[in-house]
Amino acid sequence: MSETSMSLADIRKLAADTLMAHGCDAENAGVVADTVTRAEGDGCHSHGLMRLPGYVATLKSGKVNGKARPTVSKLAPAVVQVNGHNCFAPMALNEGRAHLIEAAKTCGIAAMPLIGIHHFAALWAEVEPIADAGLVGFACTSYKPAVIPAGGTKALYGTNPICFGWPRPGKPSMVFDQASSVMARGEVMLASREGHTLPEGVGVDADGNPSTNPDDVLKGALLAFGGYKGSSIAMMVELLAGGLIGESFSFEAAKRDNGDGGPPQGGEFMFAMDPNLMGDADGWAAHADAFFDKMLEQDNVRLPGARRHKNRSETAKTGVAVSNIVLDKISAL
Ligand code: NDP
Repeated sequence: MSETSMSLADIRKLAADTLMAHGCDAENAGVVADTVTRAEGDGCHSHGLMRLPGYVATLKSGKVNGKARPTVSKLAPAVVQVNGHNCFAPMALNEGRAHLIEAAKTCGIAAMPLIGIHHFAALWAEVEPIADAGLVGFACTSYKPAVIPAGGTKALYGTNPICFGWPRPGKPSMVFDQASSVMARGEVMLASREGHTLPEGVGVDADGNPSTNPDDVLKGALLAFGGYKGSSIAMMVELLAGGLIGESFSFEAAKRDNGDGGPPQGGEFMFAMDPNLMGDADGWAAHADAFFDKMLEQDNVRLPGARRHKNRSETAKTGVAVSNIVLDKISAL
């Protein structure tokens, strides 16, 4: 696969310029470009530059407002709602984050429902700043139907990622972030682009037959990880990011969507908790670190997020090898 080496600054500029050329103002473009750059820098290519054509498609079709100004409303002392008014999710998160952190530090726990947003990114980039601010964080979002409920035959759930962050004062926060499908759809798209087959058990084709061909699975559906257990996690995400906060379930978002290839309008649910207000203010950090040390005593055990942190420290110096297929698609925009 042919690649071009790019610095993180070049990646950010390419992303921001492309978004601005298609209708984003500087603020909206900058926030999304930061998200794209962080994904490339951490080696999460499925949510980096590869997503630009999808972002642009939604701007061109008018589904996303690239000049939106999200608004924040305090629904209760510990509930901060952000209405994105059809912006890309990172813009709404940027607007709400400080309010969520402040509410959690005041009340011990606080929730942030996000409505009217278009989510096309990786969740770790959203939860990491919450954990870096000293809070336990959680986020989840739904999408369009892509995953079959356990026992069923038709996609109903989105790939519905969940992300959990744990603060570690003086050390990188522990953040895990996973789709509730066996594999994220972005990874299947990556396999399609690179001509790889998928492992067994990832998904089915449009007729419901098991398939390892990524193109067939993209036309068919994915399976939840861990059978009925992952299926329940995906269902929980539908309820938290849709039913709880007055936003769409994945199947409703798909009905409204114009099919331009970019993310539908939907919701996201986040919460944050202050470990200093949960009963062990003096001890929680050392106690949890001793637990992580115990985990890491075992060979081949690593903390989730460690791969990203390693990539981050390297790409800051070396830049990133970006696929020319992706760059050609961006030039063609
Ligand atoms: P992965 O299966 O690649 O990784 C899931 C998590 O497990 C990561 O935190 C990863 O850490 C960790 N991990 C992987 N291997 C190990 C290991 N050996 N030991 C310990 N931890 C490990 O992610 P997915 O494919 O499920 O999801 C990819 C991305 O797609 C996510 O960022 C998600 O937010 C995004 N997504 C977005 C959607 C949207 O609608 N916006 C929909 C679905 C997914 P590490 O990164 O360090 O490897």
